[in-house]
Amino acid sequence: MRIDWADVLSEIEACQKCRLRAGCSRTVPGEGDPHARLMLIGEGPGGEEDRLGRPFVGASGQLLDKMLSAIGIRREETYIANIVKCRPPMNRQPAPDEAEACLPYLRKQTALIRPRVIMLLGATAAKYTISPEIRITRDRGKWVERKGVWMMPTYHPSALLRDPALKRLAWEDLKAVRDKLKELEEVPEP
Ligand code: SF4
Repeated sequence: MRIDWADVLSEIEACQKCRLRAGCSRTVPGEGDPHARLMLIGEGPGGEEDRLGRPFVGASGQLLDKMLSAIGIRREETYIANIVKCRPPMNRQPAPDEAEACLPYLRKQTALIRPRVIMLLGATAAKYTISPEIRITRDRGKWVERKGVWMMPTYHPSALLRDPALKRLAWEDLKAVRDKLKELEEVPEP
């Protein structure tokens, strides 16, 4: 079946598949370069994201922008999305049925973008894309390759804001992402 961006975005906008839609102001589908080589996936929209309809625009987003810029990547060169497109109440984690209901949209976005590298920001993102067994403290910084796409779990920027001591590890992960993108420049697309 052919997927197209306009259809995916309008499906998300009209979606009522889970209870999160009733409690949010608007859907936050994601944004960025539709052909990005680097895709970033977080958990779900927070307060600012819900207000503006854009992902990662609060304090976590500002930190993420700074971290990307430190490895020479502008936010507009990436595509940023979340596991769920509607804000969970009180910024709680999405429940498994909410995440499962929303994941088909993320899969369609990923199929359209065809990124070479995906950074999974936090345990929720890694759990629903790589494996439910992922533990972020144990598995961060480890690469998983699926069909030529390289995925790496790392800390969510909000965890770095809560515990700045984790920034050193997150920095290691970012440098590894930069190196992987460079290495993949030499490798033809799968
Ligand atoms: S979170 Fe996803 S599945 Fe649930 S209503 Fe919003 S767009 Fe639909």
